[in-house]
Amino acid sequence: MYAIIVPSMTQLSGSVRLWTCRNCNARFVFDEIEAQTDESGFFFICRDCDYRNRLVNVGPDATGRPQLIQRDDE
Ligand SMILES: [Zn+2]
Repeated sequence: MYAIIVPSMTQLSGSVRLWTCRNCNARFVFDEIEAQTDESGFFFICRDCDYRNRLVNVGPDATGRPQLIQRDDE
């Protein structure tokens, strides 16, 4: 199975969220990146270096979609 997850924007409160590549430190605006998931969990692929960055699902939002965050230590 291979699915594209569309992050919910309902939790945003006006601030721009960024995801940072842990390999090359490139930064991406949250809604420019398509988070992906496979049997090992959620991740996004860096557009600059193709590094796979782990994401954490902190639980479904009100519509049942996963809310993904990037932990500072991963
Ligand atoms: Zn990168």
